[in-house]
Amino acid sequence: MPLLATAERVVKCPTGHCPGWITVDDDRPQTVPCRYCRVTVNTLRYLLEGIPDSGTAASHLTPAVHAAFNSLLLAAAGMTGGNVYLRPIDRTVVSLVPSTRGVIVEYNPVIARQAGPAAVVTLLFHYLLHIDLHPRQERPLGLLLRPGARDKEPFQPAVNYLLHLADHAWIMARIAAVDAHLLPAAQAWGLDLAGMLTGNETFFPPYMAERNRRWIMEQFDAPTATPAGVAGALVTRLAALSARFFAGQREDLRRTLVAIQLADLGLRDPDRGPAYQAALIAAGLPGVDAAAHTATRLLADVVAVRDQAPAFEAIAFRQALDAALKALGLHTAFEIQTLKNA
Ligand SMILES: [Zn+2]
Ligand SMILES: [Zn+2]
Repeated sequence: MPLLATAERVVKCPTGHCPGWITVDDDRPQTVPCRYCRVTVNTLRYLLEGIPDSGTAASHLTPAVHAAFNSLLLAAAGMTGGNVYLRPIDRTVVSLVPSTRGVIVEYNPVIARQAGPAAVVTLLFHYLLHIDLHPRQERPLGLLLRPGARDKEPFQPAVNYLLHLADHAWIMARIAAVDAHLLPAAQAWGLDLAGMLTGNETFFPPYMAERNRRWIMEQFDAPTATPAGVAGALVTRLAALSARFFAGQREDLRRTLVAIQLADLGLRDPDRGPAYQAALIAAGLPGVDAAAHTATRLLADVVAVRDQAPAFEAIAFRQALDAALKALGLHTAFEIQTLKNA
């Protein structure tokens, strides 16, 4: 083992144009502030100390996980021009909240305590990577209705979801590359289904997402909670609500919504796909098999683009969106455009 094998690294200060350097010590709860711009970030160590009983489980998180997580927090600090703090809070599963001094990364302490640090860290990686893939300087892409495709206007929210879905192809691969134990830790509890029930990636209206969040908390808070039990309940609830909310939509939109959900699940938690599909059929939603057929192509085409450019490039992201629109037969109704900077 090399003599200087410590958890300490000196990195460029993430603040744009700042000449400073920051020492990241993975064993300290926070970095020492940059001597020029005072930017600082909480580290994974801080998070782990805030999760009761994570003492032993924390040791399962490898140095690579600490290094990857801490550099994502530094990148977030650089992109937001401020500090990054971690905060346990009941009213969310995971969220990134802009503040006057930077960004606050919130995580749910009930889920953290029950599912363990690795599961929560995996979920945090997911949301941090969304930001990391699209630096603020980059001009964002949007999917806009083509002139003359008015009848497809109700598809807009579903089509917007493709921006998340395309990201997920790269995000899941990036998390798997950091440590092979991370994704299974979150998947054991069906945490990605929780992310489809509430938060900024849900298909449901805010009042339902809020109800779901409270229901999710109850599942994780139950003294008898087990990974299989919670994950199974999440599958059933997501299917029941999807059946209820999608049933009233016109047939082509319903098929699109179900196809996007199934393809997204295929990226986030592939082993739950069949159970979810069966639960949708059991819940009485028509047209699930046809949607599943479309989902298979959607998933394969997006993954193929990702595999051509595993490192993620803006051009590949655009190609993934294009492939997704084509797989859904919506490329004649929507076009990919670079949005003006806000
Ligand atoms: Zn600085
Ligand atoms: Zn996401």
